[in-house]
Amino acid sequence: MKLAISEKDIRGIIELARRSPIEVCGFLLGRKEGNRIIVEEVRETENRLNSPAEFEIDPLEIAEVLDEAEKKGLEIVGIFHSHLKCPPVPSEKDIAGMNLWRNVWLIANSLGEIRAWILENGEVREVGVETR
Ligand SMILES: [Zn+2]
Repeated sequence: MKLAISEKDIRGIIELARRSPIEVCGFLLGRKEGNRIIVEEVRETENRLNSPAEFEIDPLEIAEVLDEAEKKGLEIVGIFHSHLKCPPVPSEKDIAGMNLWRNVWLIANSLGEIRAWILENGEVREVGVETR
C-alpha cells in the first residue's frame, strides 16, 4: 500500500507541525485506487485537548468534515497529526486510536520528518509515502 500526496500538502503539514506549540491534527481527504491511497485535500481540525503530547478531534468537527468530503465526492482516507520532538511513530494512544480509525495515519514532527502508518491484523505497519 502507498500513500500518494502532493509535495505542497506534505510541506503544508510539516509547516503546521513546526509552527504549533501543540499537536496539530486533521484529515486527509481523497480516494482509493487499488493499492494506492490518493490524497486530494488536507483538512486541518482543532486539537480539542490543546496539548503538546496528544490530540483529539471533536466529534462535531468530524461530522462536519465527513459532510464536506461527501459534498466533494471524496472520502476520509487518513488522519494526520504531529509530534513535537519525538519521532513520527505511533504512540500507544495513537495505536488505540488506530483501532477506531482504521485508515492511514500520517505523522509529522517539528523536525520535518513525516511517515505514514496503518494497523493491519493488529500490527502497525509503515505505509510508503509517494509525492505526486
Ligand atoms: Zn501521536
